[in-house]
This record gives sequence, structure tokens and C-alpha cells, in this order.
Amino acid sequence: EPQPGTALAERALAALRRVFSYQSFRGSQLDIIVAACSGKDTFTVQATGSGKSLCYQLPSLIHPHTVTLVISPLISLMEDQVAKLSQLGVPACMISSQQSDSDRKQAERGAMQGEYAIVYVTPERITLERWLYNFAQSLLTNKGQKDRRYLLSLIAVDEAHCVSEWGHDFRPHYRLLGNLRSNLPSSHPEVAMMALTATATPRVRQEIVEELGLRNPDVWVGSFDRRNLFYEVRRKNNRGDLVSTVRKGAEKDDEQDGLQGWERGSTVIYCSTRDETVQLAALLSHNGIPALPYHAGLSASDRATTQRAFAFSKCRVVVATVAFGMGIDKADVRLVVHWGLAKAVEQYYQQTGRAGRDGLFSKCILFYDNTDLSRAMGLAGSDGARVAALFEDFRRYTSFGGCRRKYLLEYFGEEVEWTDCNGMCDSCAASAAAATTSVGSAHQVPLGPSHRDLAAHAYLLLCSVQATGGRYGMRVPIDLLQGAKTKKVETAVGGRIVPVAGKGNRVISGMWDFVFSELQSKGFILTNPNNFSKFTTTYSVSAAGRKYIDKFTESGAAVAVLKDPPP
Ligand code: ADP
Repeated sequence: EPQPGTALAERALAALRRVFSYQSFRGSQLDIIVAACSGKDTFTVQATGSGKSLCYQLPSLIHPHTVTLVISPLISLMEDQVAKLSQLGVPACMISSQQSDSDRKQAERGAMQGEYAIVYVTPERITLERWLYNFAQSLLTNKGQKDRRYLLSLIAVDEAHCVSEWGHDFRPHYRLLGNLRSNLPSSHPEVAMMALTATATPRVRQEIVEELGLRNPDVWVGSFDRRNLFYEVRRKNNRGDLVSTVRKGAEKDDEQDGLQGWERGSTVIYCSTRDETVQLAALLSHNGIPALPYHAGLSASDRATTQRAFAFSKCRVVVATVAFGMGIDKADVRLVVHWGLAKAVEQYYQQTGRAGRDGLFSKCILFYDNTDLSRAMGLAGSDGARVAALFEDFRRYTSFGGCRRKYLLEYFGEEVEWTDCNGMCDSCAASAAAATTSVGSAHQVPLGPSHRDLAAHAYLLLCSVQATGGRYGMRVPIDLLQGAKTKKVETAVGGRIVPVAGKGNRVISGMWDFVFSELQSKGFILTNPNNFSKFTTTYSVSAAGRKYIDKFTESGAAVAVLKDPPP
């Protein structure tokens, strides 16, 4: 364990103050820098905004003749960092295949001649045959020249989760980074590797270490808990919800100064299609909240204009696809809205992580409806088992009745001792509110806050499981609901008239699978202990499930549902 006070640590601190004008290191920055400067491999998993970049920017500023290569897939982030470093007087450049030939050649020549302390390079470029060899070799020839750098001493791989198919942003070129060090000239001194990412589940972490070939790395995993962010999931009613939500921003109460919530910070709205970004931006603008769309189909200059307008708060609201946000570094994003579902927990967490970088109270609100759900399930399903599994974890987040923060943190492998986040998510806020009112739980709709409007689906499916005598697996009751006339359905029904038969035919079957698993997790459908079938697990309706059917019938809702089944 390096102690502050060692010579290396002191030089690091001096460089931090001299170059960046920061007074002290944050979190594990110093430990990581000292380890990297001592030639160790390091792996840093820390939340966005925690200051990871500094960990790879500082080492070559401590040792005068060394060079750090930074591999990143995000061109705009690299451009940003090169510009900032140049302003601070740090010689840095960027090399990518997307530059014009002459720009790239110029940067490459300068880099090889040891003019730059930090060289940003894309994975496509660095994995070109012999690129790294030539680079390190030509650097070495500068040895002995005054003010020239000659030793490649650190290779930092930013966004390291891109190496993993289980991450949210797999990039095939990252797979080629594994044997980077074996591409160096054989006489080259040791080069340390540093991997960094803001999101990685334990599974992804393992893959990163293996794929990048890190050697016995020192690992720092910071907490993912963003305590100033409030998480909420809501069902969509109509687009008016979006307008009122954005208008209010992250405000808890009405403030007195005449400003509306959205005027007090910035808002990012994520939706899934390009058309939708345009429509929603128009809708908001029409309602007095100027908003711009952002998606990958816009021209580069339009995108740059929007990004700039957002960065300088000329436009406070951007409606975007996933294309927006790579490298957004805006401190006062008060609200991140997802209008529709994300693909996976990682992606969702990454996007919500753009809220509240300044540490102030901010909200992350996810809206979705059944159409979003069936669409997302369909898309995920058609993309193979892995994508479907990742989506299923996210789907579970939306229907989860407990603390959302706990769910997210545990997803990233963090051990969480508490069960309640002090009212900083909708579930915990609701249970705090319930505890202070006299309305007992008997009045609560048993499907939990986010699924009130699945009440009809739940009723239909429970009736169908009952009608099939509780002797089958999932398929038969769902087939019955959908009006399929299979042999098994006919045997199960045995000529009786079943009122719910065919009432589920407007709902896609994936949706019924989902409702089924919900009902299981709520304890309304149970696995039969003495199974009726040798081949499948069979289910029946529990006492709680029967009570649900009764209450639904008594309230008069059942008649309405049978007359007008859910879409
Ligand atoms: P990450 O890469 O982890 O998302 P960044 O490296 O972009 O985070 O850092 C987030 C912000 O924190 C940046 O504005 C950076 O300048 C600032 N920062 C980093 N380290 C320090 C420090 N030791 N003291 C003060 N500010 C810091």
C-alpha cells in the first residue's frame, strides 16, 4: 500500500497542483496513479464523474520522458480531452482512422517524435498490424534528445467494458486488444496496463481482466451509489405526462422565484426512435419548453450545434436516442427521463448517471407502457438469448417492488446492507408515505406501484390457470386465453364454458409470459408440490390469487374486462 508521503506520491501531488490546479486527489486516484507509475497493472471500476481520466493523464506528467497511450472508442470524448489538456499546457494528441489523412499523419509523426505526453488512439488504429511496434520503436530512437519523450510506459484502456459481450456496448475491436503488449519490440521495457470503466457487473469485470490480459492487476471498485439521484418508474398514460414531468424538473415543492423546474437546470430525455426524438422535442417546444432532438441520423454539424447549445445551457432540454451522451460532462443535469425502456440495466444506469454530477438532488424517471414492453421483449428475443437475458434483468427492475437503488447496486455486485434508501426512490418514498397514513395495506393493489394497469391481465391469467384445473404448465392457460384450440386446451377445459377463453387474443404471448412470472413472484401462482406431469412444472392459483380474483370480481372490474379485454 503506497502511503502519501512517498516520493512518488509527492511528485504526483505536485503535478496535480501545478498542471490541473486541484488541491487534492479524490478517492483512490492517488493509489491508482502510484501503482501505475510503479509498473503495476491496474483496473478501475468507478462511477462516471468520479475522476477516472486523471488516473491516466497524470503518470506521464510525473516522469518527464514517458508517454501514455489512451485507447478509447469515443472520438468526441477524446477531442474534448485533448482540447482541455492543451489548454492546461499538456502536450496531447489524438489519432483515429476518422481523421483526414494529413491530420492523422501529422499527429502520428509528432507522437513518434516524442512531442506528446498523452496520445489518444482508437482501438481500430492501435490494432493495425505493427502500429504499436512501430510507434514504440520510433519513440525509443528519441532517447538522448532534449525535451523528447522516448518511453512508452502506460497503456490505458478506457471504456474497458467494450471488450465484453455482456457489457452494454460491445465493440469487436476491443477483442483484439488482448495481446497488445506482445506487439512491442522484444527489447522494450515493461509497459503497465490500466483498464477503466464506469459500469461493470462481476461477470463483465472478470471478462475484462481475462480479455485484456491484465497481469495480477490492482483492482479498485468504487461504490456505484449515486446518493443524490432519485429513481422512479411510472406507467405512461399519454405524452402530457412527459410535458408535465419535464416542466417540474427535479423539484420537490413549488419554489417561489417564478422559475419552473426545467429552467433551473438541464434535462435529457431518452427515447428509442429517431422520429420520436423529433416529435417529442416539437411537443415540448410547443408547450413552452424549448427542446432539441438529437440522434445519429442528424448531420454532424446539427449534432455539434445541439451539443453546444446544451453544454452552454442555451437549450436546456434535449430529446435523444442512445447516440447522445457519450462523454457529456454537464454538471447540472437535474432530470433524466427515459420515455420507453432501455435495453439493459447497464445501459440504463449509464444514462441515468449523467444526472446530478454536481452532487445536487436530481431525478431519473422511467416511463413505459405495455406497447414498449412487448416491443422491447420482441426485439431482445430476436437478438438471441444473451440479449434477452440482459433485458429480462432490466424488465425485473421496472416491476420490482423493493428499493430500486438496492436492486441497481446489487446488480453491479455491490453488497448492500440496508433495505431502504431513505425515500430516494419511488418504492421507498411510497412505503415511507404508507407508514405515516392510516390506510392499511388491504387497500393497496397487490401488483405493486408500477403495475396497476396490469390488474386486468392478472385477473384473466389467474382465471385461466384456475379454469385449467391448476394441472398444467404455463402454455395451456395462456393458449386458452389466446383462444388457441389445441388438444391440450380442449382436454383441460373438457367442454365447459370458460368466460375468459379467447379474451387475451389482443395481447402478444410474450406479454402473458411476463404477467405469469409477475404473478409467480407475487405468490399468486404457485408451483404444485406434487407435480401432475412428469414433463413440465405445473402451477395452480394460491389462496392469495383466489382472493385477488374475488376482489376484482366484487369491484365490478371483471365484467368490464370480459366485455372489453385489454389490448
Ligand atoms: P470520469 O472519467 O470518471 O467520468 P472525469 O475524469 O471526467 O470522470 O472527472 C469528472 C470531473 O471531476 C472532471 O470535471 C474533472 O476535472 C474533475 N476532477 C477529477 N479529479 C479531480 C480532483 N482531484 N479534484 C477536483 N476535481 C477533479
